[in-house]
Amino acid sequence: MKRTIRALGLGLVLVFLAAFSASMAADLPKIVVLATGGTIAGAAASDVQAGYASGQVGVDQLLAAVPQAKKLALLRGEQVSNIGSQDMNDEVWLKLARRINELTARSDVDGIVITHGTDTIEETGYFLNLVVKSKKPVVLTASMRPSTALSADGPLNFYNAVAVAANKEAAGRGVLVVVNDWIHGASSLTKASTTAVQTFLSPLRGLIGTVAYGEAEFYRGPVGRNTTESEFFLDGVTGLPRVDIIMAHENMDGKLIDAAVAAGAKGIVIAGVGNGNMTKEALDALAAQAKKGIICVRSSRVVTGLVGRNVEVDDDKLGLVASAGLNPQKSRVLLRLALLKSRTLADIQRIFEEY
Ligand code: ASP
Repeated sequence: MKRTIRALGLGLVLVFLAAFSASMAADLPKIVVLATGGTIAGAAASDVQAGYASGQVGVDQLLAAVPQAKKLALLRGEQVSNIGSQDMNDEVWLKLARRINELTARSDVDGIVITHGTDTIEETGYFLNLVVKSKKPVVLTASMRPSTALSADGPLNFYNAVAVAANKEAAGRGVLVVVNDWIHGASSLTKASTTAVQTFLSPLRGLIGTVAYGEAEFYRGPVGRNTTESEFFLDGVTGLPRVDIIMAHENMDGKLIDAAVAAGAKGIVIAGVGNGNMTKEALDALAAQAKKGIICVRSSRVVTGLVGRNVEVDDDKLGLVASAGLNPQKSRVLLRLALLKSRTLADIQRIFEEY
């Protein structure tokens, strides 16, 4: 009899504990992890080998590798793609953006984490920053070392990204990128080292915040219009116009500019020297294309600083656009979206100043 009472008591305690932990779990923010590939899902044959392949590990394995993140949020994963981000393309972008818009519209989703490669995370992040229509946290993360490496940086980056996505203070700050303890705005970060773990910088616009072992501190909001304040929508969009980036250099001629237009470019971004400069020959070729209706943007190959109108180049006379604070790769993203709406120079210059 005594034994039965004891067993019953134990049973009740267990039921209570199960109900308690279920109710605790139900209170956790609900985060969806959208995996796209990259080194964070990469694998090598040994833990000290430089060579590896991106996009080898699936989203379930990624989640299982960081069980600590389950204490921060109720997580579920979806595999959107599994590619190195050097192979990122419009199809994946449109699929990812649309899925984020569907998910963030639901009341049972509080935030999104996207795992991505570092090579083009700044472009994907900026694209999403312009077309996601939600104030809920949308956080990209990545790693420089594959999952099999000694001192792999992916697990802690993932943990920190979940912590930021689960943090109410992250809401309304635009799309964020969390790597190596830093919280970047998608409009500001750039990849600055080919191999170092501390590869991302926000050189002109600065950091949004920091996060250490899940403890986030926010310093400011995003720079530039984004998400719910952005004028760009993907309704009915099946493709994005071609825009090419051409890098300026000593002795540059206009042949690549003309070749880009011949290949179908509707816009050209020059990664100019200095304040968006280029040789006279290249500038003549650019102005000639601008006259024909190709939208030509002067950005800079220099890692930080603004490209202003009419500094050494007479943009007004030549019909060119200055990229303001955007580097060439982000200028390309913005111009592709801008071209879906407008072809007027004044409007496109306004867009570059507002985003
Ligand atoms: N090539 C890889 C990628 O971008 C590099 C990385 O993720 O760090 O997918």
